[in-house]
Amino acid sequence: MNPVIIYTVASLSGLGITSAVILFFVARKFKVYEDPRIDQVEETLPAANCGGCGYAGCRNFAEACVKSESFDLLFCPVGGNDCMTKIASLLGRDAATKDPQVAVLLCNGTCENRPKTNHFDGAQTCAITTALYGGETGCHYGCHGLGDCVRVCKFDALTMDPVSGLPVVDDAKCTACGACVKECPKGLFELRKRAKADRKIYVACKNEDKGGPAKKNCSVACIGCSKCFKVCPYDAITMGNNLAYIDSDKCRLCRKCVTECPTNSIIEIGFPPRREKAEAASDIQITAKPDNNTQTIN
Ligand code: SF4
Ligand code: SF4
Repeated sequence: MNPVIIYTVASLSGLGITSAVILFFVARKFKVYEDPRIDQVEETLPAANCGGCGYAGCRNFAEACVKSESFDLLFCPVGGNDCMTKIASLLGRDAATKDPQVAVLLCNGTCENRPKTNHFDGAQTCAITTALYGGETGCHYGCHGLGDCVRVCKFDALTMDPVSGLPVVDDAKCTACGACVKECPKGLFELRKRAKADRKIYVACKNEDKGGPAKKNCSVACIGCSKCFKVCPYDAITMGNNLAYIDSDKCRLCRKCVTECPTNSIIEIGFPPRREKAEAASDIQITAKPDNNTQTIN
């Protein structure tokens, strides 16, 4: 055989073997140990990678769970309590549980309630319009209606209502990941505790103007009159910056504030229709005095 070929094969083989040996020792020297429990925790997570936990993705959250001593500051809103309980038992720790939450829009400035006063032809994103000016209506606190929140929701839980011009939350799909809360430049979303049958009572307004100007720009604006605050038997309402705020942890959904509000800025959702007073009174009369003359009502 040609000696040139023999030398070439031999030198290349020698080079290959030397490189392999060097790589072997380098790999051993710089080997990074990764706790196998990180993979197990990651498999337990919903793989939404939404950042709702405050970490860049599910993998980072899994690493944090394994490294951290306690779960007090760790919670996956998408997986919820079941997921956190499984992770806790996997790691032999105590699970941190939280009340389930849902996103709520604190604005009811529909096209009808809050008429437009100007028109903007520029870039159609809420972030840009907010940076430039107060929006197309007289209320500078309300929704700009350009759907930044809808675009950021990874769970299809938000849609823009073309009639009202406002985003609508689908409670069944909302995971309380908080992406809309972070994205809305007007700060109009809040995560509130989920109540039975998804019932909600909240002040759908963030207008901090005084009563007159607030009402002039939006017919359902909170005017800061404190009537709801005075009527609430559970101290669930606080007043500040010409606005009422209802604490969902204290609110017992009695609805007294809703009827008291002179501008209908308190929204109630998920309740059966209210019965007229006269109707309720006649029912009581019929039940209370059964006698031979009782009429049958069809
Ligand atoms: S809620 Fe906020 S992000 Fe969504 S459309 Fe309105 S202003 Fe834009
Ligand atoms: S509505 Fe908001 S909190 Fe709910 S899933 Fe969508 S982005 Fe997350």
